[in-house]
Amino acid sequence: MRAANPTVKGIPMTDATHIKGQCLCGAVTVEATLTGTGLTACHCDMCRRHTSSFFVGLSPVQSSLKIDGPAKSFRSSDWAERGFCSTCGSTLWYGTVHDGARYLAAGLFDDAAGGTVAVEYFVDKCPQGYGISGDHKRLTEAETIAFFTGGGEAGT
Ligand SMILES: [Zn+2]
Ligand SMILES: [Zn+2]
Repeated sequence: MRAANPTVKGIPMTDATHIKGQCLCGAVTVEATLTGTGLTACHCDMCRRHTSSFFVGLSPVQSSLKIDGPAKSFRSSDWAERGFCSTCGSTLWYGTVHDGARYLAAGLFDDAAGGTVAVEYFVDKCPQGYGISGDHKRLTEAETIAFFTGGGEAGT
């Protein structure tokens, strides 16, 4: 079964799933259909500061994305924005400015929407005190940048 699944840049895809989640205080609710590419984890400096660890994101079908409540966005760089709940401060998404795409924080969903980490970005920036276990792609800063400048569909 697994071998027959299509892949996106070598990351296995599973069946699409519709998921619902919320921030810590419950004021912001999110709904989306997953693309099935699994979870991404990013250790870059911005993700570390925004989340206090690493940003674990999932990739929704962008047209299916529904965000209700007092969500706000912070422009973190020329190319990226970060969503958060203006009431409780929960991290909501990582977004790319050029296409308006938003990658939801997996922690908004029970059991991280059942996802498994498929790829880890900026792995050489991961603090030495913790790490992510499992057998998945691990890209250094240089490899992460090459991955996205080579025509990737997500961003970090
Ligand atoms: Zn909230
Ligand atoms: Zn990052």
